[in-house]
Amino acid sequence: PTAAFRTDLSSLLDQVGTGKESLSFMKRRMRRLASQWGTAAQRLHSKLRQRWREQKKILVHVGFLTEESGDVFSPKVLKGGPLGEMVQWADILTALHVLGHNLKISMSVKELQGFLGVPPGRGSCPLTGPLPFDLIYTDYHGMQQMKQHMGLSLKRHKYVCHIRVIDTFGTEPAYNHEDYATLHGYRTNWGYWNLNSRQYMTMFPHTPDNSFMGFVSEELNETEKRSIMQNKVNNMAVVYGKEASMWKQGKEGFLQILHRYMEVHGTVYYETQRPPEVPAYVKNHGLLPQHELQTLLRKAKLFIGFGFPYEGPAPLEAIANGCIYLQPKFHPPHSSLNHEFFRGKPTSREVSSQHPYAEQYIGRPHVMTVDYNNSQEFDAAIREIMSTKVEPYLPYEYTCEGMLERVHAYIQHQDFCAPELGISSLGSPGPQFVLLPNSSALTWAPDASAPSAWPPLRSLRLLASQEGQSCVEACQRANLVCEPALFRFVNNKEALQVQCEVVEAEVNHVYPAFSVLRRECSLQKDPLLYSCAGHSPKYHRLCPCRDYRRGQVALCRDCL
Ligand code: UDP
Repeated sequence: PTAAFRTDLSSLLDQVGTGKESLSFMKRRMRRLASQWGTAAQRLHSKLRQRWREQKKILVHVGFLTEESGDVFSPKVLKGGPLGEMVQWADILTALHVLGHNLKISMSVKELQGFLGVPPGRGSCPLTGPLPFDLIYTDYHGMQQMKQHMGLSLKRHKYVCHIRVIDTFGTEPAYNHEDYATLHGYRTNWGYWNLNSRQYMTMFPHTPDNSFMGFVSEELNETEKRSIMQNKVNNMAVVYGKEASMWKQGKEGFLQILHRYMEVHGTVYYETQRPPEVPAYVKNHGLLPQHELQTLLRKAKLFIGFGFPYEGPAPLEAIANGCIYLQPKFHPPHSSLNHEFFRGKPTSREVSSQHPYAEQYIGRPHVMTVDYNNSQEFDAAIREIMSTKVEPYLPYEYTCEGMLERVHAYIQHQDFCAPELGISSLGSPGPQFVLLPNSSALTWAPDASAPSAWPPLRSLRLLASQEGQSCVEACQRANLVCEPALFRFVNNKEALQVQCEVVEAEVNHVYPAFSVLRRECSLQKDPLLYSCAGHSPKYHRLCPCRDYRRGQVALCRDCL
């Protein structure tokens, strides 16, 4: 069947259900953004020029909101608890609905069993029949539930390639590979599901080893933008942090400086009394409904982060409403090695500031990342912000159209069920590489007879990283992005154009790689371990990079 764009959300709203604050929050959001989604659907429809799209049968199982997982989120929706996940799930559901797919939504193990045709209450009854869905979107909780209650032993189960895991912070290949994680100290409580790492879908484009799913933010038309810019209050700041604990300890110094110049507003949740952590001069509005927060942000000039929460949606909303986002630089960066929050998370990513996406992908004048311990630097930043005029800005990938475009492309092109090719040779003529002394760029004209891929092979730009550098960094330095789907084309002897005395194939997440000194070339033996994130001081990585669309890093120029 054909997928036809939908602009009416009413049947989706009926499907989401009732009875929990989390569901009400998601439905309010869907209603509020409905017209924005509708416009985006029309735009994408004409952009794709009648291209045929297959309607998929999709199951969405929101594991973290099930009672069986303990659902700690729902009771905290109105109390300052995390909302980012709900923002994202609301937007994922809406995107799938608007794209015209056949959607089933499950928020309990019972519903999940029903949809998958497993008789309830039979313990771990194994999943054996044909999967009645093309795609299953779930999260880590959902994976655990499918394993526990339905005997989905995930290794190589035929259902597994149809699963997509919504995973806020991302999972790197070394942590996902059960045997490898066990042997090399990458085991975490999140598990190791032996998925293709692109089956994990993140909230921001973290490591390209995962697919970037994202969410949306409010969009403004030109009239709204102009009126917002006219009505900005230059000395009004809103603090990022809805829970009182985010205001604890060590904030007095820079808050004092801020207060010297600006009126400070907060949206900190409280029950009856003003939270003692929040200084008396702060105008605290209490936790606001999303649309009221937007109104506040439209007036404010500055949205200021205190270092926590990490990588949430709020800074994008603030920037979209014409605020400048000021945030602390983390030096040294926070990671699973040195910070409680990231400890045990399946990633080695180093977080350089409260919101690295804002820092790296948006930057000045919308985003300023400074050392909060340096009061001169902080003071100067505040003064600069008050005198800088900025327009509201939203990266395309966080607009409804951008999200629809990306999700559409994933659904039509990503296929993890096809057998992964092993070490492949591209046939003759062999690729030609040039190892440049400084940038270590390898140039290569791909062979037209190579097997088809998505992203297409012609988007590939081969690079060698510096010793110790990951492919994430190496590609980024060249204004490209690492593309794990293309590793299989470069994981061969011909691609390693260095003089190799030894060529080995091993299971190691930094391969393919080479050591110039030892004239050693190493190929990857297990496709599950192709990793953009991997790096080692002894090796130059061999990196499949690709180009990307402006404002849509998930897609190469030819990827639609
Ligand atoms: N938010 C809200 N009311 C408030 C403060 C925040 O509705 O008073 C919303 C905000 O619009 C954003 C969401 O909370 O979409 C998540 O924000 P945050 O960046 O704090 O991430 P979290 O830590 O909650 O995942």
